[in-house]
Amino acid sequence: MEKQTITIGLPRALLYYRYYALWRTFFQELGMEVAVSGPTDRDILERGTALAIDEACLSLKIYLGHVAALVGRCDYILVPRVSNFGRHRSMCTRFESTPDLVRSVFRNSGQEFLSYEVDEEQKKDEAAAFLELGRALGRSPKDVRRAYKLAKKAQAAHYKARVQKYEQQYRRSGLKVLIAAHSYVIEDPYMGRPVTDYLKRVGVIPLRADMVDRDGALKHSRELSSTCKWEISREILGGIAMHRGDVDGVILLSAFPCGPDAMVNELIARRVKGVPMLNLVLDSQSGTAGVETRLESFIDIIRFQEGKL
Ligand code: SF4
Repeated sequence: MEKQTITIGLPRALLYYRYYALWRTFFQELGMEVAVSGPTDRDILERGTALAIDEACLSLKIYLGHVAALVGRCDYILVPRVSNFGRHRSMCTRFESTPDLVRSVFRNSGQEFLSYEVDEEQKKDEAAAFLELGRALGRSPKDVRRAYKLAKKAQAAHYKARVQKYEQQYRRSGLKVLIAAHSYVIEDPYMGRPVTDYLKRVGVIPLRADMVDRDGALKHSRELSSTCKWEISREILGGIAMHRGDVDGVILLSAFPCGPDAMVNELIARRVKGVPMLNLVLDSQSGTAGVETRLESFIDIIRFQEGKL
């Protein structure tokens, strides 16, 4: 009997927004199919909230809802463990615990999970992790190396194109607001999308602190903090350092309760002066009406200060 194609499930949350070009290309180049969960909606949020402990951040609750939406629809669901990219380059601890957490939460589902581990402090880099991942799926080292190489190229090209698109936005005339948020917060249809949609509706150009050259951002992050150890927070800090002079306001957008953002946003508020700033923390109860009211006042304040109101 002909062997069926392996289908890998990708939950559309957390690191999906950073790695989807890499993951998709890697698995497809190895002859597999990928199944991505649909955009976050109320049902996904409620399923995730029911599965998570109360203390989990909104991003993790949403992630569990996406995993639930994929259970039974694919051969494996990818749940990576990404700890760090070396010293002072750590990821939030949630990214260390998700594989164990997901396996425990879905232990009676019959679903198989697939993982890889990046922990450069322990000499486990991404290339080695993907080689192991491909081998576990029965592919030859040669095929896996080739697929990984193509996947890295696709990821770099995809990210570069997105950064260029945002760079062009800085040259447009009009009121610009820089949003400091994790990609999985700002791009999620339930969390950040209503914020960017609102800003566009009222004629404001939303920009993203995380959409900058990552190596450059890591260097520039030192202008605001030389000790911040979280990789994504450092990229965001670097983006703010690079573009704070190009925008009319900054929005700090977080998912409740986020440990790294609680510290880093406080640091930003203390060290970035001379630009209006709004701190928006989203939880599962935040309705769009409350968020829009705060955004409306913020934009009014900026326009008033600039003499445009
Ligand atoms: S950085 Fe914050 S929002 Fe992201 S997973 Fe960690 S606690 Fe959740």
